[in-house]
Amino acid sequence: MNGIYILLGSNMGNRLEYLREAEKQLILEDIKVVDESSIYETEPWGKSDQDWFLNVVLQIDTSKEPQELLKTILEVEERLGRIRKAKWGERCIDIDILYYHDLQIENERLTVPHSGIEGRKFTLIPLVEMCPLELHPVNGETQMQMLAKCSDKLDCLLTDYKL
Ligand code: ATP
Ligand code: MG
Ligand code: MG
Repeated sequence: MNGIYILLGSNMGNRLEYLREAEKQLILEDIKVVDESSIYETEPWGKSDQDWFLNVVLQIDTSKEPQELLKTILEVEERLGRIRKAKWGERCIDIDILYYHDLQIENERLTVPHSGIEGRKFTLIPLVEMCPLELHPVNGETQMQMLAKCSDKLDCLLTDYKL
């Protein structure tokens, strides 16, 4: 995997505005957006009794090390008013680190590559759009191969929204 990829998601209030504001705040924190996927409207994963999400993947560039990037991401979530209730429940903004080049990190605060990539179409579809042939550093598969194998049946619909 060549690059740092993050996933943004929102299913509360003005979802598109939350994604836009999150991107703005990240840029203010010295994070450069190199590339972005289309925006997808996605059926909630893990907990079905909630509204659909908007999701987008950003490729970013930053001098921040992974732990510092996580700290920034959690601060931006908080600044935008995220309140953590149920696991995988509704949220105005979620920002997850998907890949940090080929780094593999596993501690109580951070798992990279993100542990949900292989099982989530709403993550794999935008990744396939952006970097179909890049390899997952742990399983050695391309984003396309993982999507082809993925058993997630939840909808992930392309939208015309723009950040
Ligand atoms: P999931 O990670 O399964 O998508 P979630 O995004 O809803 O669930 P959060 O409540 O946003 O989970 O995050 C809980 C904790 O997950 C964070 O405080 C953070 O320490 C930890 N975490 C571990 N790995 C990552 C990662 N790659 N990106 C973001 N957070 C991570
Ligand atoms: Mg998440
Ligand atoms: Mg998260």
